[in-house]
Amino acid sequence: MYAAGSHPGRVRTVNEDSSLVAPPVFLVADGMGGYARGDVASRLVAESFEPLAALSTVQPGDVEAAIAAAQRRVAALASEFTSAPGSTLVAAAYVLEDGRGYWLLANIGDSRVYSLADGVLEQISKDHSVIQELIDAGQISRDEALAHPERHVVTRAIGALTDSEADFSLVPAVPGSRLLLCSDGLHSELSDTAILHILSEGTAPDRTVATLVEAAVAAGGHDNVTVVVVDVVGVAPADENTLPSPGGPG
Ligand code: MG
Repeated sequence: MYAAGSHPGRVRTVNEDSSLVAPPVFLVADGMGGYARGDVASRLVAESFEPLAALSTVQPGDVEAAIAAAQRRVAALASEFTSAPGSTLVAAAYVLEDGRGYWLLANIGDSRVYSLADGVLEQISKDHSVIQELIDAGQISRDEALAHPERHVVTRAIGALTDSEADFSLVPAVPGSRLLLCSDGLHSELSDTAILHILSEGTAPDRTVATLVEAAVAAGGHDNVTVVVVDVVGVAPADENTLPSPGGPG
């Protein structure tokens, strides 16, 4: 079961975020504010992953090919506009390894993927941002980061910047666990504790998504906010005819 939702927020007139819910692939892309046509860039990123929805089994190479296609398409926008558009990417593809289900996660920028399992919320992706570098260097605390003037500056993006390699991770798709993909419009407004509370309420994905989006807008809505929630409902035994484990919409 899965759902997606988005809101422009209370400050911006254009929603430059995009999402894709097309099992076995789920994605959030955040078009770069301050660049031209971020909405187009994030939509191209989402569209580049659409071919994966037709595959019975996604391979890591399929995800790499989708990222390469997104980079080509967004880079091609640069000639159309006076400044280069860009986009973040956070994607989760359900893959089988030795008959077991996993999430293959890819991240470029400061959109995030979290997992909720056994009541514990874990941020799996690591932000590619100026703030994260300052935290890693021990120069500021996580609390100080929330109010830092450069908190929206990313160090990697699709398009816009040259250093746009993705980080990949592979995590078990545990039945009963929940995956959250979101743009920084969510995690810059809500604390991990607030996110954990809403994700743990036991509501269906569509209701959970709506509550998260509403909470981020109510907390300030300084940026576009986009959320995808996926519940892992089945086990993935060796028989791959039982795919896809993420289940149907709702
Ligand atoms: Mg944003």
